[in-house]
Amino acid sequence: MMKIPLIDLQAQHDSMKQEILETFRQVMESGVYVSGPEVTLFEKEAAAFTHSKYAISTANGTDSLILALHAFGIGPGDEVITSPYTFFASAEAIARVGATPIFADIDPLTYHLSPELTESKITCRTKAIIPVHIFGQPADMDAFMELGRNHGLVVIEDACQAMGAYYKGRPVGTIGHAGCISFFPTKNLGGVGDGGLILTQDEQIAQRIRMLALHGSSRRYHHDMIGYNSRLDELQAAILRLKLRKLDAWNESRGHRAENYHRLLAGTELRLPYVSSGVSHVYHVYVTETDHRALLAAHLKKEGVSTGHYYPCPLHLQKAFSHLGYKPGDMPVAEAISKRALALPMYPELTIEQQAYISQAVHAFYGIASIGFRGESG
Ligand SMILES: *Cc1c(COP(=O)(O)O)cnc(C)c1O
Repeated sequence: MMKIPLIDLQAQHDSMKQEILETFRQVMESGVYVSGPEVTLFEKEAAAFTHSKYAISTANGTDSLILALHAFGIGPGDEVITSPYTFFASAEAIARVGATPIFADIDPLTYHLSPELTESKITCRTKAIIPVHIFGQPADMDAFMELGRNHGLVVIEDACQAMGAYYKGRPVGTIGHAGCISFFPTKNLGGVGDGGLILTQDEQIAQRIRMLALHGSSRRYHHDMIGYNSRLDELQAAILRLKLRKLDAWNESRGHRAENYHRLLAGTELRLPYVSSGVSHVYHVYVTETDHRALLAAHLKKEGVSTGHYYPCPLHLQKAFSHLGYKPGDMPVAEAISKRALALPMYPELTIEQQAYISQAVHAFYGIASIGFRGESG
């Protein structure tokens, strides 16, 4: 029996072990661990990679969202619209700056926040929209930028899962007024600890974010505002610099793995990822849909294949947001997909033998169980 993890960071690190260990040693011996040359170089290289005017590193992707919202002056009394079908931090950041997260339902094909439903939630208190490039697929940025223009709203891209993806030829994170990226270890570009980045084309906002992230200070021991302590450290920056050079190849490799799955899983009842035209999907995770998610997940587990559940509880039904007054049925699409979503192993080093094995296990599940399912439905 093969054992196949959902994400294999060991395989990635094995492929560059010597480089990583050498980098560890260099940073250790440099005696500079925060705000040093590696961070400066990484920000330059990340800006070049994304064709962004400004790239400011932070301690993590959640801080990137918080700092961006804060820099645009969003706070108590303001409403920010985002997706209910994303990692908690997308909405947590809104609440953290004192604003109110407002949820609009998602598109059933792409799982993106729906621009039409977003528009229906705009009030005189709405200040911003946070579209999320969920699972690595760019959201419909033209529609969100038009909403932003028509209603005078800030658009902040949550690109935490999509570093290196393109929307109509433009890198995600550079289309909105700001773009937020995470370097959590499992993200497409991940450190060996936490890290984050904010992209913006606006000089004033870039300066404000830099200040906020450094205790509201641009001159040592002089503080113009109440800020945060949110910095990428030298070790993370040095390792991210190594990995950034491989990101395009890794993302391409994920794309090939997705094509393999499409071929291998054709003819099963699994609903495979839908990709919009004009975008490059970087498959942060490979999410399928099934009516039998618990049974299939258990079957695959028995066969040694790990699966993921992104996300079992949509954000409008989280306990932490119970004060917002949402109830089951308010976001029917997000709720339905939360029950059906099953992620299969996805990482650049996944082999075709492993994919064939996974596919065989899926086919066996449907083959053996098909009589039972027919019984269920009729
Ligand atoms: C990972 C993630 C974040 C938060 O990033 P951290 O670096 O873990 O703080 C925010 N939004 C989305 C969509 C994410 O996937």
